[in-house]
This record gives sequence, C-alpha cells and structure tokens, in this order.
Amino acid sequence: MLSSAPGCTDAPVLRQRGQREVFCGLTGIVWLHRKIQDAFFLVVGSRTCAHLLQSAAGVMIFAEPRFATAILDERDLAGLADANDELDRVVARLLERRPDIRMLFLVGSCPSEVIKLDLSRAAQRLDRAGNGDVRVLYYSGSGIETTFTEGEDACLAALVPEMPAATDSKPSLLIVGSLAEVVEDQMLRLFSAMGIDDVRFLPPRRARDLPPVGRGTRMLLAQPFLANTARALEARGATHLPAVFPLGAEGTTLWLRAAADAFGVSPARFHDATSAAEDRARRSLAPLRETLAGKTLFLFPDSQMEISLARFLAREVGMIPIEVGTPYLHRSHLGPELALLPRDSRLSEGQDVELQLDRCRDAQPDLVLCGLGLANPLEAEGFTTKWSIETVFTPIQGYNQAADLAELFARPLRRRARLMV
Ligand code: SF4
Repeated sequence: MLSSAPGCTDAPVLRQRGQREVFCGLTGIVWLHRKIQDAFFLVVGSRTCAHLLQSAAGVMIFAEPRFATAILDERDLAGLADANDELDRVVARLLERRPDIRMLFLVGSCPSEVIKLDLSRAAQRLDRAGNGDVRVLYYSGSGIETTFTEGEDACLAALVPEMPAATDSKPSLLIVGSLAEVVEDQMLRLFSAMGIDDVRFLPPRRARDLPPVGRGTRMLLAQPFLANTARALEARGATHLPAVFPLGAEGTTLWLRAAADAFGVSPARFHDATSAAEDRARRSLAPLRETLAGKTLFLFPDSQMEISLARFLAREVGMIPIEVGTPYLHRSHLGPELALLPRDSRLSEGQDVELQLDRCRDAQPDLVLCGLGLANPLEAEGFTTKWSIETVFTPIQGYNQAADLAELFARPLRRRARLMV
C-alpha cells in the first residue's frame, strides 16, 4: 500500500545496536567553554579524557583555557574520602587562581575510579562552600552515558533548574542550543524585524544571565540533539515549537516561520523581514550546487545533525543521501525534518559499525560524512570523506552561513577531483 505521509515520516528505520564509533559527550566542552564565557568545565577523569580534550581542542589556542581535567588515578581509590578531599583542593586552587569564574561544571567521565565518586553530591558540597559566588553544577560527559553532542544536552539540562521562574505568562521566545554569536546576532535582527523582541538564548553568553522560563516561554530548538533539555524546559512550563532546524535558505525560513506563527506575525511582515536574506542565501548556494548536485552521500551516525544535514543537502543543493544514520532518532523533534527527507533515503538509528561499513562499501557513495575514527580507514579505501565534527564546530546555521555549510561538503569533492586528473 502506498503511504500518503510525506518524505520519510513513516519510512522504516534500520535499528542497530552493536559496536559504535562515536565520540563521548566530553567533546561538547570544546564549543561550550567558548559559548558560556564566565564558566569553567572541570572534567574529573583519566589521562585518556585529558588527551581527548586536548586533541579535540588542539586546533584552538587560548591564553587562559576555560576547561581542565582533574586526573584520578588508581591510587586515589585508596579511599573515596581522600578523592573527595583532593577534588575539593583542586577546586579551591582553581577558584583562587581564576576569580573570573562564575559557574563551575564538574563533568563526569567513565573510568571506574570516577564512577565510584558521587560527583553530583560533590557539586552540591562545593556549591554550598562557594556561598553563592560561584555556582557549581554537575553533568556527565561519560562515554557510557553520552555520545558526542549529548554532552551539550546534559550540560544545558543541568542549567534548566537554575533558570529563574518567569514572573508573568507573557509570550517570550527561547532559542535553545549553542549557536555562534554571529549567528545569534543575525537571528536577533530577523526576529526584531518581525516584531518579536523578547528573545533569549540558552546557553547564555554569561552564566549569570540565565533566561527566565515559565508558561509563556515558547521554545525553538536550534540543535536537534537536546531531548533532555527540552523535556526539562517543558516540565517548567515551556512550549516546544516544532520546526526544521535552521540549516540552509529554506531551513532557516521554515525555522523562523515556526516562531512567527506562534507570535502571530503576519505573512506580509514575515516576508518583508526574511525574503531579501533568503534570496541572498539561495543565490550563494547556486555555484555550490554545480559541484554537489547529483552526488551520492552516506552519513554515518555521529552528531545527531545527520537528518537535518541530509535534508538540506538533498533539497537545496541536489545531493542524493543513500543512508542517513543518526545515533538516536527523536521523532518529536525531527518530525518536520523527516517529512522533507527524500523518500528513498535509508534511515538508520544506532550502529553496528562493521555492518554499516559493508553497506557503505556496497553503495560506493561519492562522499561519506563520518567521525574522525572512520575517516582515515575509509579514505585509505578510496572514499572521499567529511568529518562530521566540522559541522558542529563551524557556524552553519542561518541564511548567511548557508553557503559555508554547502562548502564544507563541496571542498572534499573538489579536492578528490583534482587528485583524479
Ligand atoms: Fe574516554 Fe570515557 Fe574519558 Fe570519554 S569519558 S575520553 S570515553 S574515558
């Protein structure tokens, strides 16, 4: 029987639970520490965790980094009381040296030495000791509990109980998920042109500027990997505005329109506010379409942005997604995206990496989006790859960034074409 549902709304999903090749949630610190400028992320972990953070952030140079790893060794297990005392000493030294820190995140990891520590309780103890000058919160970035972008979800969910209660139920717009500041500023200008002025962001640029939340809060997700944060905000009265994510010209318009509809913006005013920027974005994509149209794409699960990326690449630059893998498929947040995804794309959730590699080899795609661990072996087999981590580190949301996003995918194809001549 033919389905009348659009796109991939009710398409079958290949669910696999096997060995997976995905970063852990500690990776989120690399972009979160730049975002919340008076926060500090103290990972309680092993040398492996320290190496991961250093190599993931190694491309960036900071005079005073806002993250560090407190390394727990086996010997620290001599007594948990000792480990807690050591943690207290590390935090006291850090806060003494860095009086600019207003919020300290203790970030859990997965070595057994760390799992035995109750970091949530440690955060409460340190928070009380800070007398309100420095808030101390806990979340887990452990590879057992989180993959890659789920670290941001865990961090933002930890912030939700700290948000002040809204004093009235007047509608306000809350954009949820880390965006580059330049993107936030562009979005603010567009919302202002529509007459929506009460717009706040989570995470804020300063930990002390947490936005209020309540029954008037209309929540527009800027990232597709925030299931726990969204649930926590809904529990505090916020209403989720379903929308595609702001990738590409069409994607950004649909995302903005979800807010415009919720705030009663007239179609004419919406058109006036967005049409010039949307036209510019469409024009900027035209030359990239020449490189990308008709090229096949295989997306391994990594950042949870895969479905939005595949929708943009298929609809706006004509790529053909063969398989769209995602670590998790949150239908309540991705419903509008699924409706726009080409019907013949294969959807997969979770991973059994060897089986997925076999499907990729069978498909022989022109381009593979994958994590760092898979990119080198696939390049050695002759595939052209793009690291999915770049789609998280690069500002790609909004009209002005549409061409930058397409360029991320065009560059490896051009490089390969040059090598072939
Ligand atoms: Fe590795 Fe676990 Fe540390 Fe992540 S949290 S770097 S998976 S040891």
